[in-house]
Amino acid sequence: MNLCLIEDDAELGAAVCAALSDADHRVVWVRRVQQARAALDDDALDGVVLDLGLPDGNGFEVLRDLRARRKQIPVVVITARDALADRIRGLDLGADDYLVKPFEAAELLARLRAVARRAAGAAAAWQVRDLTIDEQRHEVTRAGECIALSKSEFALLRTLARHSGRVLTRIELESRALPDNEGAALDVHLSNLRRKIGPGYIRTIRGVGYVIER
Ligand code: CA
Repeated sequence: MNLCLIEDDAELGAAVCAALSDADHRVVWVRRVQQARAALDDDALDGVVLDLGLPDGNGFEVLRDLRARRKQIPVVVITARDALADRIRGLDLGADDYLVKPFEAAELLARLRAVARRAAGAAAAWQVRDLTIDEQRHEVTRAGECIALSKSEFALLRTLARHSGRVLTRIELESRALPDNEGAALDVHLSNLRRKIGPGYIRTIRGVGYVIER
């Protein structure tokens, strides 16, 4: 990833920079709000690590400006302030995740990977083993072969894939995937979907709901 680190603390900044570079990320490190504005103009950026307390201003301003221009770019806020109000404000302004100092570099890396995955998932496609669910093209392929699905079947599969690894109750699945349908339709659409994509993808958890395994 091409990352921008905005952090005025020399020691912490150097440590984070080193950890990110070791993990094969390219990092531009800036220490002031003024420099951050210029650095964040780079369209090639894939993610931002942002400290809130900066010498010439506040990380919140940087976040607000950034979100006004680029809604999708992943932002992880790092801060010494662990007050609840700061966290809520940061998340309200569009931070994707929060890390309170001191933290392990490995944790920052894991958070960055997670927010990058979410950002990519929101934009494009989900992969469930050999199934690819392409949101924009409204297309499902299994091992490269196209599978024709109805609108409802596609919505069910996309919803399960979006939450893969987590069991969705019937009610959650219906309200998210089939908001206009009668309750009885769920079983019909699920059974058609399973027949088309093949067995083993969607598991029924008796009395709880349905899950698609990653
Ligand atoms: Ca600081």
